[in-house]
Amino acid sequence: MRVAIIALLHESNTFVSRPTEWHHFESDLCLHGEPIRTQLAGAHHEVGGFFAGLHDANIEAVPLVALRAVPYGLLTAECFQRVMTEIASALDSAGNVDGVLVAGHGAMVAESHRDADGHWLTQLRQQLGTHIPIIGTLDTHANLSRQMVDATNGLIAYRTNPHLDQRARGMDAAQLMVNTLRQKVTPVQAAAFPPLAISIEKQLTSAAPLVPLYDLANDQLARPNVLSNSILLGFPYADVKEIGSAVLVITNNAPALAEQLAAELANEMWRQRESYRGDLTDIDHALAEASELAGTVCLLDMGDNVGGGSPGDGTLLLHASRARATRKNVLCCLHDPQTVSDAIRTGVGGRCLLNVGGKTDAKHGAPFVDEFTVLSLHDGKFSEPLPRHGGASQFDQGPCAVIRNDSGVTILVNSLRTPPFSLRQLTSCGVTPQDFEIVIAKGVNAPIAAYREACRHFIRVNTPGCTTADMTTLDFVHRRRPLFPFEVTGKFG
Ligand SMILES: [Zn+2]
Repeated sequence: MRVAIIALLHESNTFVSRPTEWHHFESDLCLHGEPIRTQLAGAHHEVGGFFAGLHDANIEAVPLVALRAVPYGLLTAECFQRVMTEIASALDSAGNVDGVLVAGHGAMVAESHRDADGHWLTQLRQQLGTHIPIIGTLDTHANLSRQMVDATNGLIAYRTNPHLDQRARGMDAAQLMVNTLRQKVTPVQAAAFPPLAISIEKQLTSAAPLVPLYDLANDQLARPNVLSNSILLGFPYADVKEIGSAVLVITNNAPALAEQLAAELANEMWRQRESYRGDLTDIDHALAEASELAGTVCLLDMGDNVGGGSPGDGTLLLHASRARATRKNVLCCLHDPQTVSDAIRTGVGGRCLLNVGGKTDAKHGAPFVDEFTVLSLHDGKFSEPLPRHGGASQFDQGPCAVIRNDSGVTILVNSLRTPPFSLRQLTSCGVTPQDFEIVIAKGVNAPIAAYREACRHFIRVNTPGCTTADMTTLDFVHRRRPLFPFEVTGKFG
């Protein structure tokens, strides 16, 4: 038997002013055929789990296409058309396949199709017909749609955020495919869509309020005929109808049981909805709290969350810590290709006046202007051997520079937007985060997996920006209504 593998991973932030284009895929992950196996089979990634699960069952894996771009604005119509064509033509030339394993994200938006994941999975279903199983994985941050459910035989989401179980969930999907093809099970899935959106601040799966919810989900897995269940936390920064939380349950040919367990999970989420609001600590309070703490404090810049699509050049926390001046020894990473060029021209050891960051738009602060010394220059490539959020092991942040001013601010400036998923991003450039009083990380939950070995304290800061923790301040047009916490009076269950 032969099972095709297709990966298409993008989380689209519709509040970012700039779109995602084809070159963004080319500069992140854009693979066809066997190089997918070479690059991902050993990775802590769901596609690695696909290969491992098929190999264990002696089924031929046929890798077709793997596309991923760092989260950013919605895909241009042209880019999405290219993506769709790549998938359709790869499947066309694959010959007969018995099943298709898909790694989707579930929060991709295109100019032409707001439910972009629902659209590509539906196209795949139309191309394959109804008799070939489509089984796959979703990111915990999927905004699940009915179309995604209807197009597939089974979808399994990661159960951790930071996402550290991607490979395991890929293996689950492969196992479900194997058992389906060998007619040991007949998967049927049910979804429920409680009308609520969980604040990004409360999406850490190892903490309250999510722990009891996952306990319930784990209890369900032990019941007879339950093959899988998933909790979709939702991606708050996509203005789409399906934004918010959802659940999925897959049973062995027991549709009523799947519906019942999905309703049970959804009702529990609805009952807990008040606990899903964020704490919304503002910049002043965060800096005051940091000044009382000993050891390295990580300030999580929630409004400029690179892994949520933000530009990564926000300077608000740098400006605020300079104004406050209680803890001066500050480290930050900013995306700013212009400053990298200026630093390269200045050379290692040279000094120059630099306008760092704050260039993409007016939402994330003005450039941080000062005289800097260029400490070092790097090619920006690094590898991460451990499981980290996103499951990647090879990274490329493009040419980059480490610069420092005379008042203790050190900035790693890179030329490719790179979320803070690996501490190697800093250490490969000779920067030791433990040497700093304050480390600014541009994320909310994802950086914690990497940064907890270097930072003693974490403070989530409600900075403004296109990934603001307070989603009620964003201008939604398309979202479902009612939706908690926008409307608090809705009924469910
Ligand atoms: Zn995610």
